[in-house]
Amino acid sequence: MQLLVATHNTHKTSEIQAMLGAAFAVSDLTALPDLTPPEETGTTFEENARIKALAASAHFPGWVLSDDSGLEVDALHGAPGVYSARYAGPLATDADNRARLLRELAHPQLQNAPRTARFRCVMCLVRGPQVEGVFSGAVEGSLIDHERGSGGFGYDALFVPEGHTQTFAELPGSVKNALSHRARALARVLDHLQARP
Ligand code: IMP
Repeated sequence: MQLLVATHNTHKTSEIQAMLGAAFAVSDLTALPDLTPPEETGTTFEENARIKALAASAHFPGWVLSDDSGLEVDALHGAPGVYSARYAGPLATDADNRARLLRELAHPQLQNAPRTARFRCVMCLVRGPQVEGVFSGAVEGSLIDHERGSGGFGYDALFVPEGHTQTFAELPGSVKNALSHRARALARVLDHLQARP
């Protein structure tokens, strides 16, 4: 089955391809350079997931899957949340975003605040103009105060998933892909596809 992932983030694409395996041929928007990404004007993961999937689907005839995801930090009242990719500004790199997160958490008022956080992922599966479903997943964990590990992307080097002592950037990709927010949302997408007549 062919699946277009409505993203330019090749880390997301590789994780999704690794999780789906050889039965799926996964491509992403890097293969469609003429397609301008839509503005992510939503205030929820679901709104942005719908925007991204439908925008890509208008230019692609087959199955399209979007992934809107981010990190919710309890001490920051859920920030950066939907703004995770742009936390340190519109052109921020992953390193800039991690640096801002560490700065925010170092605030003296947050010294004794819990370091609990979760990654959340909402995927929207569409075909043509038809939204087939919206699927979500989350993984709970805690944040550390310095980066550890070189795998993964985004905030992985600061996030230790519940039940582990290593960050997502230290753990093998296969471990992240077994328990991540993205894995959990994708499992629901697969259930949906398998249940179709
Ligand atoms: P989006 O492309 O608008 O969905 O933003 C996703 C952002 O959330 C990424 O740029 C990362 O900052 C963060 N994020 C989402 N998933 C992950 C993950 O699996 N690991 C680390 N950071 C993630």
